[in-house]
Amino acid sequence: MIVQKFGGTSVKSVARIRNVAGIVASAARHDSVVVVVSAMGDTTDYLVKLAGQTSKTPARRELDALLATGEQISVALVAMALNDRGVKAVSMTGAQLGIITESVHTAARIVDIDTARILRRTEEGLVVVAAGFQGATPAGDITTLGRGGSDTTAVALAAALRASICDIFTDVYGVYTADPNLIPTARLLKEISYEEMLEMARVGAQVLHPRAVELARKHRLPVRVRNTFDPQHEGTILKGADQMEISRPVSGVTVARDQARLAILKVPDRPGVAAEVFGALAQQHIGVDMIIQAFHQDQSVNDITFTIKRSDLDTARPLLEQVAARIGAKGILADPDVAKLSIVGAGLMDQPDIAARMFAALGEAAINIKMISTSEIRISCAIAEGDADHAVRVIHDLFHLDEPQNG
Ligand code: ADP
Ligand code: ASP
Ligand code: MG
Repeated sequence: MIVQKFGGTSVKSVARIRNVAGIVASAARHDSVVVVVSAMGDTTDYLVKLAGQTSKTPARRELDALLATGEQISVALVAMALNDRGVKAVSMTGAQLGIITESVHTAARIVDIDTARILRRTEEGLVVVAAGFQGATPAGDITTLGRGGSDTTAVALAAALRASICDIFTDVYGVYTADPNLIPTARLLKEISYEEMLEMARVGAQVLHPRAVELARKHRLPVRVRNTFDPQHEGTILKGADQMEISRPVSGVTVARDQARLAILKVPDRPGVAAEVFGALAQQHIGVDMIIQAFHQDQSVNDITFTIKRSDLDTARPLLEQVAARIGAKGILADPDVAKLSIVGAGLMDQPDIAARMFAALGEAAINIKMISTSEIRISCAIAEGDADHAVRVIHDLFHLDEPQNG
């Protein structure tokens, strides 16, 4: 059993759907295949826009009902194209696939997959064409998994079906040292560890959805990223860090755009205040990152600064103003112009000069650093969004990521 996933650009037109059917047909000659597909081209963006034009505050349940239609179109068409080639195929929606999610609209996590219906069909010799990005709550409401979530559907199905591999077909050759559409000299990585890929996906490498990588790591499932337009090419394989031959100091540089920065000023220094601040945001499902608590000359107060997605700012700001008043903080500051530049590498912490070199190169390029955060294998800087493209170029050059000897 193998799972093959095709993203939006791979099924953008009827001609491309036929191309996909060709790739699936040759795999189906020797394997049982489950195909996961995204909506055609920019369909999901179009549906989001349509909702916004209809209502300023569309109900999240209805947004999910709307967005899920994109994938329903492409699964039906792919199944038709396969049947035309003489490959028996059947399309299925998230609910038909048995994908049960939590009851959180627009960013639901998969809690369980009942594979009985899929297996019945594959045992009959059919290719199952699965709608990515969607599931259903136990009560039967349609949910979606968050933008880019078809990757997660593919990996979750591969894990549940104990597939030998999950191939993610997209519009580039695999995972590169930077977005190849931004940095033409970016180099294709033959392999990358789950850990590095997870960090890269979380901080802006759109090529894989972070939850897909998380699931792959948990199940130690081999995932390959490959090019739809050159399906024989090996692409990039994700594997455990212990299976890697090399541990590069820097594997890649990424940028996450559309971020914002919020600060709560002079928060009284007592136990429980941070929980109150971040608890309120969590309740509204607002994800936070780069949390920094800085101490003040006046030791009875701290400033707490963090980043969120810019689209969450309108919800977060009034919420935080209320919390600030409640806990006796001085007020809040909001900065909507933020992008997050990151470098990721398993061997990064072995070389303490890397952070210093990164900051120095940004300084020389007159790029101001607004915030810094690190993990064991990542260094991130918040910068102005207008500096993002330039910054990626500067850092890619600094670490000579275009050169093969760097991994
Ligand atoms: P799909 O529709 O197939 O899911 P996506 O647009 O979600 O495709 O992801 C593929 C895109 O990810 C590429 O076209 C590329 O511009 C972008 N990308 C960003 N960072 C990277 C990276 N480090 N390596 C490869 N692609 C990247
Ligand atoms: N169609 C959805 C999106 O555009 C899911 C995906 O493509 O992975 O976000
Ligand atoms: Mg994608």
